[in-house]
Amino acid sequence: MGIKYSNKINKIRTFALMLIFAGIIIMYLGLFFQTSAILMTLFMLLGFLSIIASTVIYFWIGMLSSKTIQVLCPGCGKYTKMLGRVDACMHCSEPLTLDKSLEGKEFDEKYNHKNENKLKG
Ligand SMILES: [Zn+2]
Repeated sequence: MGIKYSNKINKIRTFALMLIFAGIIIMYLGLFFQTSAILMTLFMLLGFLSIIASTVIYFWIGMLSSKTIQVLCPGCGKYTKMLGRVDACMHCSEPLTLDKSLEGKEFDEKYNHKNENKLKG
């Protein structure tokens, strides 16, 4: 116990949000380099790129969300969106799985990357 699993969509959303803040901070830092046009432009460009990247991630998440499966969480009774074969509940971080063979096993992100070779051999 102790380790809290978080929902993948939530994780990516948090990352996108951080990227926006990082972009703003980088652009703000650029203001301290007003004496050097090159440095300031570089900071502004980097900040701008971070914000663009996060916009792209937000867009991508929107696309992903439409493709995810909605499941009723047994832990909190709320509907959550699952990404991949195993994911955590968005509301209570309860580990969930779509694969019956994985039920009852310890939650592991590795189950999302099915090892084909291992199954054949
Ligand atoms: Zn839940």
